[in-house]
Amino acid sequence: MSTMTGRHAVREADVAADAAAVLAQVGNTPLVPLDVLGKGLGSTVYVKLESDNPGGSIKDRTALSMIRAAERSGELRPGATIVESTSGNTGIGLALIGALTGHPVVVVTGDTISSEKLAALHRYGARVVVTDWTAPSESPENARAVAARITAENPGAWRPQQFDNPANPLAHYEGTAPEIWQQTSGRVTHFVAGIGTGGTISGNGRYLKEKTGGHVEVIAADPVGSVYSGGHPGEILVDGVGNSWPEAEWPKIFDRGIVDRFLRIPNNEVYTTEHRLLNEEGLSLGPSSGLAVAAALRVARAAPRGSVVVAIAPDAGSNYLSKAFNPVWLADKHIHLAAEFVEE
Ligand code: PMP
Repeated sequence: MSTMTGRHAVREADVAADAAAVLAQVGNTPLVPLDVLGKGLGSTVYVKLESDNPGGSIKDRTALSMIRAAERSGELRPGATIVESTSGNTGIGLALIGALTGHPVVVVTGDTISSEKLAALHRYGARVVVTDWTAPSESPENARAVAARITAENPGAWRPQQFDNPANPLAHYEGTAPEIWQQTSGRVTHFVAGIGTGGTISGNGRYLKEKTGGHVEVIAADPVGSVYSGGHPGEILVDGVGNSWPEAEWPKIFDRGIVDRFLRIPNNEVYTTEHRLLNEEGLSLGPSSGLAVAAALRVARAAPRGSVVVAIAPDAGSNYLSKAFNPVWLADKHIHLAAEFVEE
């Protein structure tokens, strides 16, 4: 059987093989040392480049893991619609992997999403519903409430619910963490990541703790405005991480007990680090990568000599040209790329 696309007849077997080839590109991301930013610290800081995934972020892993688990359990039937509320990257991952596995995708996202992420969602064919990201859970405008309503209106539709879905941290327990273990030849001593759903830190943390009898230290990097690290809820200026909800509404999959230490990083330091990664290391990464690397550099400065610090870089800078790399946006948010973080 063949399908016509433009002037070319494409055999369905070929399409399936292409889809499988793209799906095989999820994970196995590079781990690179920060030769410039990490110089003279007495320890090595490595960054795990999750922007290398085909959809451009760590959330390809989560999307694939959740879709496969739901297909196996029968919750997600062939061809059924996937509906998720997400700040962006999970939606992009779901849209890409949904397209490759034959599922239409509806993404409910916030009005602060970058135009680049919005464009990516449309590019992969998702239907996008934009809502007020700060609406409280009792509001009909709340993203999760909107996603629930759309699901109810679409018979057979399935919600991955990344905040509650064990297949989210499992993607990291079975994928990201074993890669880090192998790439550091088991020498990793500190693991640093931000927390959105908590899937990354919970899955990696659990694996690395198990492997080392609890010796790996797990450090959560948290932005200003987030309550994870005990701060007052406020405006969060780092996409995809932090949380201003009351503790009773924290994601079920976030394993609070796996975190040894929280580091709250000021926005100026987050964005300065993100720009330094580009200018001095040639790494174009997003603000949550700036957050994790800023925390990792602080950790490495204080850690015993010879420590091996691994920071997760969830996505690429190209998603934020209109925000983090736009001087007008930075000025509007009162963010200063501060010289005091450039020289130690
Ligand atoms: N950084 C970015 C840019 C993200 O989109 C996310 C996911 N929300 C995270 C970090 C945090 O990952 P997790 O949900 O696994 O905690």
